[in-house]
Amino acid sequence: MRGDNDQLASFWMPFTANRAYKAQPRQLVSASGMFYRSSDGRDILDGTAGLWCSNAGHCRPEITEAIARTAATLDFAPTFQLGHPLPFELAQRLAALMPDGLDRIFFTNSGSESVDTALKIALAIQRAKGQGARTRLIGRERGYHGTGFGGISVGGLVNNRRAFGGGLPGVDHLRHTHDLERNAFSRGFPQHGAELADDLQRLVDLHGAETIAAVIVEPMAGSTGVLVPPVGYLSRLREICDRHGIILIFDEVITAFGRVGGATASQMWGVTPDIITMAKGLTNATVPMGAVAVKRELHDAVIDSAPGGIELFHGYTYSGHPLASAAGLATLDLYARDGLFDRASELGAYWEDAAHSLKGRRHVIDVRTIGLVAGIELEPRPGAPTARAMELFHACFDNGLLVRATGDIIALSPPLIVEKEQIDAMFGTIADLIDRID
Ligand code: PLP
Repeated sequence: MRGDNDQLASFWMPFTANRAYKAQPRQLVSASGMFYRSSDGRDILDGTAGLWCSNAGHCRPEITEAIARTAATLDFAPTFQLGHPLPFELAQRLAALMPDGLDRIFFTNSGSESVDTALKIALAIQRAKGQGARTRLIGRERGYHGTGFGGISVGGLVNNRRAFGGGLPGVDHLRHTHDLERNAFSRGFPQHGAELADDLQRLVDLHGAETIAAVIVEPMAGSTGVLVPPVGYLSRLREICDRHGIILIFDEVITAFGRVGGATASQMWGVTPDIITMAKGLTNATVPMGAVAVKRELHDAVIDSAPGGIELFHGYTYSGHPLASAAGLATLDLYARDGLFDRASELGAYWEDAAHSLKGRRHVIDVRTIGLVAGIELEPRPGAPTARAMELFHACFDNGLLVRATGDIIALSPPLIVEKEQIDAMFGTIADLIDRID
C-alpha cells in the first residue's frame, strides 16, 4: 500500500479509510471512566462510549477483576452438549431484565452474530409452526444490522452490500423514517411519520403474508445517524405484524442496557417485539458478547417440534464463553448497583437542552435526541458529502473529545456515568469547532 507506515500496515482496519488513517494515525492507549488517553498523552472525553458500548464507563474494576478471576479459573469450556454455570446464570439474570415473556436467551459474540442468529431463529420458528413458506425477511432503509450476510441483507445501507454481491435474495425493505422537512429539531419522538409503518402492509399486499417470516428494525436507528421513531410508529408495526403472523425483531444492540433509559427501548417505549438482539453494553464491551432474547412460546415451538436430539442447528464455539459471561454478570451488577439505567431519564432533559443549544449554529440543519443519544446533522458540503462531519470528528479528537461521524451526522452517546459538566464540555467543544469548519 502507498504511503504506509510499516508498523501499521498489517492491520486491515474495519470500516476505516485505511490509507488516510495510516498516514495520520490517532491512537488510544488506555481508558478510565469517562476518558480515553491518546498516544500523545492527552485525555479524550468519551462522547460515544467507545462505539455505543462502554455504557458504565471504562476499565471499571468490578468488571475487569471478574474477568481476571475467571480467566485464571475456567479459561474456556464448551457449551455444545456440555455446560458450565456462568451462562446459565447470566441468561437467567438477563431474562429477568427483558420485557415480559422474552425469557429464553441465545448467546453470540457480537451484534452481527445476534442479528444473523435472530433471523435464523425467526425462520426456524415459522417452520416449526408449519409456516415453512415464510422465508422472506424485511428490514428498513438506512437500517444497520451488522455485517453478517443476513445483517447486510436486511440492512438498508447500500455501501455495506454493493461490494459483496448485493446480499441474500428474498429480502425487502420498509421506507426509513427520516423526514427533515416535517421533523427537524424535534424534541423526543418526532410528531410525523407513524404512517410510514403502513409500508409493511404494502409489502404484505405485494408479496403475500404467507411468504413473510420476520421484520427487523432498530427501535432507534443509531449507526445511520440517530433516527428516533415517530410517535406511534413502533406500535403500528407491532399491530401489522400481529395481524399477519409476522415475527417482529427489535435490534437493540445499541438501545439495550440503559441507552434510552431502562434495560431496553422496548420497555421504555411500551412495544414488545418477539425477539430482541443485544450486544455491546451486555459486557460493557470488555469481552465480546451478544445475546438474543426470544419469547418463551416461540422458543418452545422450536424445541417441541424437533423429533429429538439437537433442536436448533446453530451456535458458536464461544456462545456463553466463561470470560464474557463473567463480564456480563459483573456488568449487570454494576448497572443495578449504580442505577445506571435511570441515568438517561435523570439527565435526558439536560442533555436535550445542551444538544439543542447547537440550533442556529453554522451548518447545523437538525438536532435530535432521545435518552442519552444525540444526532447533529450538518448540511453536506456541496460536492463533498460527509466531509464536514469527518473534519469535525478529527477537530474534536484533536481538541480532546471523541464523537462519531456517520455520513453528515455527528452522533453522541456517552457512557451513562456522564456528569453535567462533561455534557457542557461536549456541546461547548462542538459549538466552538463547528464555526471553524468550511
Ligand atoms: N445491530 C446494530 C443496531 C448495531 O448498531 C450494530 C453495531 O453498531 C450491530 C448490529 C453490529 O454489531 P457488531 O459490530 O458487534 O457486530
